[in-house]
Amino acid sequence: MTYQAPVSDIAFALKHAARFSAAREDGVYDLTDDLLHAVLEEAGKFASNVIAPLNRVGDQHGTPFKDGVVTTPPGWKEAYRGWAEAGWNGLSSPADWGGQGLPHAVNAACIEMWNSASMAFGIGPVLTMAAVNALALHGADELKQKYLPKLISGEWMGTMQLTEPQAGSDVGALRTKAERAADGSYRITGQKIFITYGEHDLTDNIIHFVLARLPDAPPGTRGISLFLVPKFLLNADGSPGERNDARAHSLEHKLGIHASPTCTMVYGDQGGAVGYLVGEENRGMACMFTMMNEARLAVGLQGVAIAETATQQAMQYARERRQGRAAGTPATQSAPITAHPDVRRMLMTMRGLTRAARAICYATAVAIDRSRAAANEKARTAAHERASLLTPVAKAFSTDIGSEVASLGVQVHGGMGFIEETGAAQHYRDARIAQIYEGTNGIQAVDLVMRKLPLAGGAAVGAYIDDLRKSVAAVNAANDPAFGAAGARLGEAVEHLARATTWLLSKVEREPDAALAGATPYLRLFGVAAGGCMLADEALAALRLADGGADAPSRVALARFFAENIATAAGGLATSVTDGAASIVAADVA
Ligand SMILES: Cc1cc2nc3c(=O)[nH]c(=O)nc-3n(C[C@H](O)[C@H](O)[C@H](O)COP(=O)(O)OP(=O)(O)OC[C@H]3O[C@@H](n4cnc5c(N)ncnc54)[C@H](O)[C@@H]3O)c2cc1C
Repeated sequence: MTYQAPVSDIAFALKHAARFSAAREDGVYDLTDDLLHAVLEEAGKFASNVIAPLNRVGDQHGTPFKDGVVTTPPGWKEAYRGWAEAGWNGLSSPADWGGQGLPHAVNAACIEMWNSASMAFGIGPVLTMAAVNALALHGADELKQKYLPKLISGEWMGTMQLTEPQAGSDVGALRTKAERAADGSYRITGQKIFITYGEHDLTDNIIHFVLARLPDAPPGTRGISLFLVPKFLLNADGSPGERNDARAHSLEHKLGIHASPTCTMVYGDQGGAVGYLVGEENRGMACMFTMMNEARLAVGLQGVAIAETATQQAMQYARERRQGRAAGTPATQSAPITAHPDVRRMLMTMRGLTRAARAICYATAVAIDRSRAAANEKARTAAHERASLLTPVAKAFSTDIGSEVASLGVQVHGGMGFIEETGAAQHYRDARIAQIYEGTNGIQAVDLVMRKLPLAGGAAVGAYIDDLRKSVAAVNAANDPAFGAAGARLGEAVEHLARATTWLLSKVEREPDAALAGATPYLRLFGVAAGGCMLADEALAALRLADGGADAPSRVALARFFAENIATAAGGLATSVTDGAASIVAADVA
């Protein structure tokens, strides 16, 4: 089967779990429900009908590389062009530059759908959108005039280039050089590795955003600058002209996302590629962070996306596959495997983790919108802190569960899951990269604990935990037996989160290694507690509303399942954070 966009679920999660509707009441959005649903419906149709059918062919065909030219799989060029012409690339880009200026949160929902249909397709535009943000915020006007409209329309694609052989997580170790030229531009020489869509035939120009170092730059991340390096330099009329001194040298052979070309890039074979400074010299990391924060949320959405597709496929297979007997069925008749409690456990885990991660990602996007459009400075600052706090959780929790859910998807298929023709194996292979790129999940956990918990002296995380407590109180106040022990279990999860947070905040400065040792279980604990509360919020909203997409009984059942079966891990995770650090710090692995 191919993916069918779950548009009403997506709209419901956005409006009620991520509180898009509440933000609209606060004046952050002026988008009507009709328009919101219309955009999501159209995106869902494009994702399901045009992109999803290309996912398999992309996996099998890959992107052959010959004489410096990358050929994308059959049908991809047409699909990409149709997608860009329909305006999807510029959905949340500034209207002044040809974008549609729609909320980031709506774009987030669409990014999920593109990536559910095909992760290898979806990752390209994610990088173009990130490049657009960096250029729009930090670029000089002349650069914007030349490049922004075409990047926003999708006529040209963008890349994001940090990684070098000796500089992965440690970006400050990069060595690519930039030298000032007499005309105000720069000459770039060096090598980048693992560059997504570094070369391809989807567009007639590719605009690389490259981090490099000036000869007199200070060491480390304080000496990095960002450069725009086009594949083709522009003619006076703005059309692509002479080839720049930048090329793809080779392509990687990968575990998954085969249709996304991952390139080694070489700059300066003939004396130096022409590059243009974005922002100020030595301030490149600040510009890159603009790209990375958006890209990190988008990669989190890839985790949600692949989890959704894997879940859909497993659900359908489990309903059709018959094995064994179930209570109440005649001895001569085998039952669908959905009758077996262990299969139900797997399917509910898949659905619960997917929807929890979706809620976290969308809430992050709503916080980004609030940080730009809330009514006053105080609210904008609070929202910015909320978005900063949630971004590493959105990225790492969602991509971790993306792999787990895809793995469960293989398991639900039994032996057929291991056989490529079902497609379950492709989801599992594709999902794995999202835990690694855009900052590994280990680096996200470090970011959460060392930089985000201390925000506003701990007040940002404190306010968030208080909000989670309100969700727990609302479940308890509903006093609805259908929630089972959900209120109690979620309450415990949130208090475990509070306990681990207090412990970490006491260690960040005095014993950083102890805090770092617990970072990954803490991030998981955060995701489980937050996701559980948001599923409860969604269920409570469904009970309140007679909305077409509400489906209250199944949402309450899912919230209960999550609280009673997944959020129960919170206690163990919190204990790992507080009591497990010593043995990690002392471990002899050298
Ligand atoms: C398919 C693919 C596409 C990619 N696309 C791009 C792209 O478009 N542009 C780009 O610039 N890069 C890209 N990358 C590179 C990617 O971002 C890096 O691989 C990633 O950041 C990790 O760097 P590394 O591979 O050097 O691993 P390393 O940094 O060597 O990490 C190895 C392990 O050590 C851990 N580790 C390292 N440092 C720390 C630390 N300080 N604290 C805790 N743990 C740590 C990591 O979490 C990881 O588990 C891509 C990679 C792949 C495979």
